[in-house]
Amino acid sequence: MKKKIAYFTLASVFASFVAVIACAQSGPQIYVPPEFETSGNFEFDIWRKDFAARAVNDKLKDPTIIEGMLKGIAPNQEVTRLNDSQPEVVRPIWIYINNAVSQSRINAGRVHLLERANSLGEVANSLGVPLEYAISIWAMESAYGSNKGSMDVIRSLATFAYKGRRTQLGESELLAVADILKNNYAKREDLIGSWAGAMGHTQFMPSSYLSKAIDGDNDGKRDIWNNSNDALASTLNYLKSVGWKADEPWGRQIELANGFDYSLADGQMRPLRFWRANGLVNAWADLPNDWQARLLVPAGANGPKFLVGVNYAAIRHYNASDSYALSVALLADRIAGRGQLPNNWPINDPPLKRAEIIEMQNILGRIGIDVGIADGQAGTKTRAGLQAFQKSRGLVADGYPNAKALVDLRSAVGIAPPENPQTAPIDQIAEPIAPPNTDGQTPPVRMFGPKPKN
Ligand code: CA
Repeated sequence: MKKKIAYFTLASVFASFVAVIACAQSGPQIYVPPEFETSGNFEFDIWRKDFAARAVNDKLKDPTIIEGMLKGIAPNQEVTRLNDSQPEVVRPIWIYINNAVSQSRINAGRVHLLERANSLGEVANSLGVPLEYAISIWAMESAYGSNKGSMDVIRSLATFAYKGRRTQLGESELLAVADILKNNYAKREDLIGSWAGAMGHTQFMPSSYLSKAIDGDNDGKRDIWNNSNDALASTLNYLKSVGWKADEPWGRQIELANGFDYSLADGQMRPLRFWRANGLVNAWADLPNDWQARLLVPAGANGPKFLVGVNYAAIRHYNASDSYALSVALLADRIAGRGQLPNNWPINDPPLKRAEIIEMQNILGRIGIDVGIADGQAGTKTRAGLQAFQKSRGLVADGYPNAKALVDLRSAVGIAPPENPQTAPIDQIAEPIAPPNTDGQTPPVRMFGPKPKN
């Protein structure tokens, strides 16, 4: 027996050797894409041919599939516009949340939760992720399946890929699409979704589909486009695979003692015993002392405060925005009949506009606090920089980028405020993003979608 194996091994080595010689003689087979009919956009045409060659020669995708994807498409100007858009005014988190967690959504979610308990209870239990979180994401992403998007995902992704700030994302997601088609998971015409390339009931990016989608109704298919049980099961699986821990809450709204040191809202996870020893007012007797959570003060020290754990991080992985993640979490709570919505938002103290954030970032840079590129977005680094400044001056170090913070910063560097500050009424803020849901709300746009990122 051993001898036989050795013989076959020797034979296959010889065969490979012959193949290598043959290859060296005729040269490697290099795929040359066909002349696609022009899209009318020269730059796009150049990218298309180049991408097709790389997809086949470097990434070993099926040339027929790649050609089928790319022929007859042209860049979508609406996608380019949305991809480039940077709203001047940031919508306050409380407006976002109050729109997202509407009573009609809560009511509909309760009906869905009851209805799906039979079909999805088992998969939710086995993954350790309560079903209401998938129902809540379903509400946020497609208004319970009523608005899954109507754009050709391949065209959207190709528009990202040929030019702009998401070329890499566009190309890698197109390669994932090629695998979806090659494996017959979906047909070309099924790949309809948002302008940003997310698809189906819970808006998965193609790469997330490949790595995270599961079969929720055991029919052998993972159909997130037309089968809501598959989409919901896949969403539970997504949350599980990005770190969801069974039997932990996402977090809680909390109260803090006067004089609390808000610089502790620094993103670091600490055990509940630490928070209990350092100003947490609520008892939360049901939570263990070693529950790991970080402090979140999205609207500053005068707004609601939250302790959030790894399950909040899992939701945020779906869409890296606190407005989104808090909406999902609070909506899931309400659907499951627990918790309540915060009622202490500082509605007269909105966040700064984009131009003012840029000014804030520039001043922070001038006084030696590195906040990266002044991009007008108060992200983690900018908020941490503002906290460092506030702490160094003995101010409440909550990192909330509001009018007071800018006044404090300007006075630190001796800049007089502008004479006629322009203020935009909060209720007139444009949201140039996704199409409205059927219930008249604007769904969040997930630029990056659920995908195995970072
Ligand atoms: Ca299925």
